[in-house]
Amino acid sequence: MITFENVSLVYPNGTQGLKDINIQINEGEFVVIVGLSGAGKSTFIRSINRLVTPTSGKLMVNGDNILSFKGKELRHLRKKIGMIFQSYNLVKRSTVMKNVIAGRLGYTDTWKSIFHLFSEKDRQLAYENLKRVNIESKLYSRADELSGGQQQRVSIARVLTQQPTLLLADEPVASLDPPTSHQVMKYLKQINKEDNITTIVNLHFIDMAMEYADRIIGMRDGEIVYDGPASSVSEKT
Ligand code: ADP
Ligand code: ADP
Repeated sequence: MITFENVSLVYPNGTQGLKDINIQINEGEFVVIVGLSGAGKSTFIRSINRLVTPTSGKLMVNGDNILSFKGKELRHLRKKIGMIFQSYNLVKRSTVMKNVIAGRLGYTDTWKSIFHLFSEKDRQLAYENLKRVNIESKLYSRADELSGGQQQRVSIARVLTQQPTLLLADEPVASLDPPTSHQVMKYLKQINKEDNITTIVNLHFIDMAMEYADRIIGMRDGEIVYDGPASSVSEKT
């Protein structure tokens, strides 16, 4: 479903974020990317929804080279790709419910949200997704009243409400303590398996990667230095 062909990315200041990446990620895989800070993990993940744009090569997503996408095509691409961030990126002063419905409405429909024009279907879907991550009891709480782990679960519910075919998570547990990190990783893995949503997660820690990944991609200095099943990673590192 995703193919990188000789993909490189040079930032305007000359830093090479990606160096000639060639890799394929298949539908339904749960891939974890590991590497030290600055290895290029975030650049890799953000290339896939074009939050950053590679400067050469071909990046195929569902049959299209997304590097030529603009305007409407880009919006359409991003609608199908859910993104989870280290800092949760919820609208802090808004309720959990509104934040989750925003996943479905998308940013172009913010006015609907402002005027509370949620349909019953929007509410129902949001509620069901909050239940999947066990946070439905916080429906009417303000996002910034929740703990970090709870906020990340809300952001998972938001992304589910977007009904994506692909889920990208950029250091989703980097701000959480170990038990909470495991809880978040378990939800991500569970959703991947139940809904067959291709999932790519960036992580700092190899032990966590080995516990949850189907496949581990190791990065260093913008290059892929390891690619294989989680079970055989220890021999190489
Ligand atoms: P990681 O996610 O593994 O920490 P990144 O993809 O964030 O790595 O960064 C890869 C390299 O690109 C690093 O050297 C980083 O400093 C550099 N980099 C990231 N973003 C930018 C940017 N906007 N401008 C210039 N250099 C950047
Ligand atoms: P509050 O609930 O904080 O009193 P309002 O009901 O006036 O605020 O407005 C709704 C809030 O939700 C706004 O802060 C708005 O920025 C935010 N919001 C809702 N949906 C979205 C969305 N799709 N994109 C961005 N922001 C959204």
